[in-house]
Amino acid sequence: MRFLLAVLLMSSILFACGGGNESSESSGELNIYTHRHYEVDQQIFKKFEENTGIKVNVVSAGADELIKKLEMEGKRSPADILITADAGRLVRAKEIGLTQSLDSEVINNNIPTQFRDADSHWLGLTYRARVIVYNPDKVSEDELSTYEDLTSEKWRNRVVMRSSENIYNQSLLASIIANDGEEQAREWTKALVANFARAPKGNDRDQIKFVASGEGDVTLVNTYYLGKMAVSDNAEEQRVAKEVGIFFPNQNDRGTHINISGAALTRHSPNKENAIQLLEYLVSEEVQEVFAAGNHEYPTREGIAWSDIVQGWGDFKKDELDLNQLGTLNRQAVIIFDEAGWK
Ligand code: FE
Repeated sequence: MRFLLAVLLMSSILFACGGGNESSESSGELNIYTHRHYEVDQQIFKKFEENTGIKVNVVSAGADELIKKLEMEGKRSPADILITADAGRLVRAKEIGLTQSLDSEVINNNIPTQFRDADSHWLGLTYRARVIVYNPDKVSEDELSTYEDLTSEKWRNRVVMRSSENIYNQSLLASIIANDGEEQAREWTKALVANFARAPKGNDRDQIKFVASGEGDVTLVNTYYLGKMAVSDNAEEQRVAKEVGIFFPNQNDRGTHINISGAALTRHSPNKENAIQLLEYLVSEEVQEVFAAGNHEYPTREGIAWSDIVQGWGDFKKDELDLNQLGTLNRQAVIIFDEAGWK
């Protein structure tokens, strides 16, 4: 008995180290590295476990950290799926050879090409818009127009923003480089920093709170945070979400910047079949509805209803920029932020 226990223990250690690649094919497990930090995901994984009997193990960390981990682990990585909150990191993971093509009719038939890698290495599970949130006591809607306009003189000392270390801002700047050119993007960044009410601090939710409390008059945040705050258990967050206004910029030109939260099949996935089964589940009507209703994201699958709050904001014109650009222009964006002193 003691011997048997030791053998069982050894085999689980081997698996945990990723040493059992061949044998784990039928182990009924699945290992996910995820940067998504939303509660609905835990419910979705749990449901998948109940439906299939496949045990889902989740490692949560920032996308850069997870990519580094995948690189270091190489062939021995236990990871099957990488999930990020940004297209740029999926593009990078593919570029450095950490992902592989997944051929799934279910995914190809249900997710528009705009939200999928051309070589099927990754797919968008949801998308989100980075919008202007404003204080209606200080700003009237007709004063708002574009991301570019936030650099004008009238916004001096009125803009609050989160750190440039955050991927959401890096991808927004990448989209500005792609649309306006590098020189214009450099000017935009400098001029926006000059309009800051204070040095960047806090996350997206905090920016919304700063705007409501009058620390600044305008900010840029991802849509779902406003949705989640509007139905928050925290009464203060609910109040704040009701006080502020939401505005979709650049509706008269290229459209509002969007990004995806997506997933890739890892290069050395030891449980590939299970991984594809989960990815297909994540694009099912059932799960896409959860992303929409439970997390106020825009589902990438067509024909899924948006949450009531999101519907209340109305439809909008999206920037149709190739999402690959968010990855390829990331480094340039980070350099421009540094040069401009956007902390
Ligand atoms: Fe987020």
